[in-house]
Amino acid sequence: MSETTIKTAVIGNPIQHSLSPQIHNYWIKQNKINTTNYEKIKIDISSAVDEIRNLFECGFGGLNVTIPFKELAYKLCDNVDLPIQKLKAVNTIVYKNNIITGYNTDPAGFINSINDQIKNNNIIKKNSLVFGAGGSARSIIYALNKMESNITVINRTAEKVELISKDLDIPIKIKSYKEINNIISDIDLIVNTTSLGMKDNHNIEIDFDKSKANLHVYDLIYNPQQTKLLIDAEMSGCTYQNGLDMLVHQAAESFFIWHGIYPTINEEIFSIIRKFK
Ligand code: NAP
Repeated sequence: MSETTIKTAVIGNPIQHSLSPQIHNYWIKQNKINTTNYEKIKIDISSAVDEIRNLFECGFGGLNVTIPFKELAYKLCDNVDLPIQKLKAVNTIVYKNNIITGYNTDPAGFINSINDQIKNNNIIKKNSLVFGAGGSARSIIYALNKMESNITVINRTAEKVELISKDLDIPIKIKSYKEINNIISDIDLIVNTTSLGMKDNHNIEIDFDKSKANLHVYDLIYNPQQTKLLIDAEMSGCTYQNGLDMLVHQAAESFFIWHGIYPTINEEIFSIIRKFK
């Protein structure tokens, strides 16, 4: 049995569909961590600050933060390192000795979820196209820039892309949805960070006949496990992956921050979370 006793949970609203408890509780058991079950806790938007502080009073020392509280969590922190100051969003909190320290494990989760072949052939010094300019897009753009990718972003609201470029100090080419099929032939990696493709939602339509044969398509959505974008990518012979990979890898980074142990990421963890879909 390990000596760690940090009590952990994920907070958000809505939170009922979160798969984080399945992931963390599997690793807590597997690594014999001396703690209670990782919980999921719905927080009221109007009283979020008080509720989060109350969780600290109740003994929670580690929180994952999801939609819509990542920016609020950043503002609550006493300590954040430089990348987080640029991202302005926190998804992992440590509360110890009355000090709130914030981390964001999404960029590392994204980087670690991509295999070396894709990194070398599709990202490093290659052209990536990101759809979206919301919270997760910030982490993805930050990560792609760290991997030396040339980044183009398409978003419904172009001003948000300009703001990300300024905040992160990263050069970004801005294009519109109408221009996709004019630029697709130059693209090596596509990352969808929008909610387009989730149930009852619109889809991103791409003419894959014009794309490179080895284009890799990454959709951050994991429910459904294969969006229309990924179905089209598969039909045209592109490689692809969904958001479960990033979900598990960002969770592993949080687990390490809290428990000091890097959990094993194996097929079993993926089969556990696929069952909860
Ligand atoms: P967010 O901050 O709310 O951003 C949503 C983005 O989607 C914005 O760029 C928004 O465009 C765009 N969008 C929404 N509806 C649209 C529509 N009808 N047409 C065109 N664009 C639309 O959300 P987020 O936190 O970045 O999350 C986005 C997605 O990523 C969600 O599906 C989430 O589940 C997924 N995600 C997955 C992981 C993972 O680990 N796999 C982690 C984080 C997020 P505007 O800027 O124009 O509004």
